[in-house]
Amino acid sequence: GGFQSMGLSHPVFKGVIRKGYKVPTPIQRKCMPVIMEGKDVVAMARTGSGKTAAFLIPMYEKLKVHNAQAGMRGIVLSPTRELALQTLKFTKELGKYTSLKIACILGGDSMDNQFAAIHANPDIMIATPGRFLHVLMEMDLKLGAVEYIVFDEADRLFEMGFAEQLREILSRLPESRQTLLFSATLPRLLADFARAGLSDPVLIRL
Ligand code: AMP
Repeated sequence: GGFQSMGLSHPVFKGVIRKGYKVPTPIQRKCMPVIMEGKDVVAMARTGSGKTAAFLIPMYEKLKVHNAQAGMRGIVLSPTRELALQTLKFTKELGKYTSLKIACILGGDSMDNQFAAIHANPDIMIATPGRFLHVLMEMDLKLGAVEYIVFDEADRLFEMGFAEQLREILSRLPESRQTLLFSATLPRLLADFARAGLSDPVLIRL
């Protein structure tokens, strides 16, 4: 059960090799096949488990190549600017051999930067929820092309007080999207959110 047997496309596999990964981590082994089948997933995974690649690799496989006409098709929501920047760097490295374009919208950045991020026609957006929603409303952006959304470190997203923004963002997405929630813990409010926002999710824990 190495990366070779997962049926990855050539550009994605090359990214994995470039990062120096030899074998999938346990969370990757459990999550990736289920996500690549198109299922919604709630994964109990903490930092250090390899969770980021577990949701990035299937996202590259789903979105495949750059599509400037479609608009944003993949979204990763992070609780903090620091995590979002780390995820952005990781997304660019691992996706280096794909043609997918990545941008970010972060609290604390100038509005000019955010407008530039949108106008670059990214396929993938890495964002913190408050500023992301603000930019959506400000620019009257539609999320009708979104196929894949990740709530990363979802327990922290809730602790940071983003619950209302997360619900608002979800309400703007197409029903047909694939939704992933990664979290170290699954408190009651988060479980309720997952029940409402995910479609028949597979629960994965180590
Ligand atoms: P994360 O849990 O996503 O923050 O990842 C923790 C660290 O593990 C990062 O430095 C990753 O680059 C690394 N990593 C992720 N997947 C693998 C793998 N399959 N083999 C070796 N290192 C990995």
